[in-house]
Amino acid sequence: MNSNQLIYNTLSRKKEVFKPLHIPLVGLYVCGPTVYSDVHLGNCRTFISFDIVYRYLCYVGYKVRYVRNITDAGHLEGDRDEGEDKFAKKAKLELVEPMEIVQRYTLGFHSVMSHFNCMPPSIEPTATGHIVEQIEMTKKIIENGYAYEANGTIYFDVEKYAKEENYGVLTNRELDDLISNSRELHGQDEKKGRLDFALWIKAQPDHLMRWQSPWGEGFPGWHIECSAMSRKYLGDTFDIHGGGMDLAATHHTNEIAQSQACNHNTPANYWMHTNMLTVNGVRMSKSAGNGFLPEDLFTGNHPLLEKGYSPMTVRFFMMQTHYRSTLDFSNEALQASEKGFKRLMEAMKTLEKLNASEGKSTSNISELKQNCDAAMNDDFNTPIVIANLFEAVRIINSVNDGKEKISVEDIAVLKKLFNDYIVEVLGLLPEETSSAKNDSLDTIMKLIVDIRNNAKQNKDYTTSDKIRDELLKANIELKDSKDGTNWNFK
Ligand code: AMP
Ligand code: ZN
Repeated sequence: MNSNQLIYNTLSRKKEVFKPLHIPLVGLYVCGPTVYSDVHLGNCRTFISFDIVYRYLCYVGYKVRYVRNITDAGHLEGDRDEGEDKFAKKAKLELVEPMEIVQRYTLGFHSVMSHFNCMPPSIEPTATGHIVEQIEMTKKIIENGYAYEANGTIYFDVEKYAKEENYGVLTNRELDDLISNSRELHGQDEKKGRLDFALWIKAQPDHLMRWQSPWGEGFPGWHIECSAMSRKYLGDTFDIHGGGMDLAATHHTNEIAQSQACNHNTPANYWMHTNMLTVNGVRMSKSAGNGFLPEDLFTGNHPLLEKGYSPMTVRFFMMQTHYRSTLDFSNEALQASEKGFKRLMEAMKTLEKLNASEGKSTSNISELKQNCDAAMNDDFNTPIVIANLFEAVRIINSVNDGKEKISVEDIAVLKKLFNDYIVEVLGLLPEETSSAKNDSLDTIMKLIVDIRNNAKQNKDYTTSDKIRDELLKANIELKDSKDGTNWNFK
């Protein structure tokens, strides 16, 4: 285990030496997706960045408990405490149960994560599965005097809390500035203060997802879900809390306030935030309507795309920029990544058949691994790791062309470097493996389509409809035409 690993801590606004609370166990909590729609590529940037953090911490020898939640409890966009319930709207429109929507998009999310070769978290708790914990935490916050009830909704009293603690600590903002930048309260508003946020929300008669609570029927606020679930699985204070930068100002600020108000402890010692994926400089988001779906990118089926790109090319594209810098989407950048990724994979193959020479190598091979370790220890600097891997590619090609020499020992060092860094830490799979996976999927789908067509010919519509409906639940859509049946991911 490395004792001088630096992590940029949003809380202190500087790089700090990482010191876990309980060596060798590291607690890592990352805010997961909201599952009323597909994840877009921006969301994937954050999840891929934390996949690399998780992989690297495991690589250096920590035992990591990685918790990433699923937000499935009828929340909303924006501050998610007001307005219409997205699950209800969608459920009504599509004549389905809200949990059918949750199931469909959760499966879709898992499929996208597996395309990008992201490791599954150790625990993936859902908000709907932890209503009891959220009610308990809300009760404790009321008991401690930091929350109040108004017409069946429980609000966190920010101004009261801010008299004792620094509410804007995470983003270094003063309370007065926060208040003047927030919306005015209208006469009928039941909140006491403009910054107060809901811990528990009274369900209106048409709200579909609702639970009994000491304050009547309702549903939990968004921020309490992460506080309650991180506390349950990682304890009152744990090591690293992560998410996209857009979550720092409200969601994570409120998480800190809730935990302090409940346990008198800051929930996490290190706060890590990934910067945004942008399209022409504008943050990719569901609401801006500029969100590419990963599927669009793989197929090239999008007006802004000149062609499709493989999941590994996209993953490689993401890690060429440091996680704390913005990353702008462009066809040129993706094409460059495609070329770069191919060069890397070809060098891996060349390395397998490289001939060693007597004596010393021409280049210094051992420093490459040291450089990669140093880069990752310096706040997960993946672009520098990649630069060092390309130096290895240059050496391999040069030896292969007879311009340089390499020893048997150094060939072994390079093989270990590639396996450790390309496969284990960066999580890049040779394209053949991913296309082999796709080939088997094609074979399986062909078989399923044949079984369904046979059922249809035999007028066994129960079976043929069941196959279509079950595939749809797994986000696979069958399209019948006069030329046969095609399938695609929804
Ligand atoms: P959501 O489902 O909107 O709650 O987002 C899930 C995760 O994706 C959160 O950690 C967000 O901060 C992150 N995220 C959302 N938009 C982007 C973006 N454009 N670039 C990077 N991360 C994002
Ligand atoms: Zn969260």
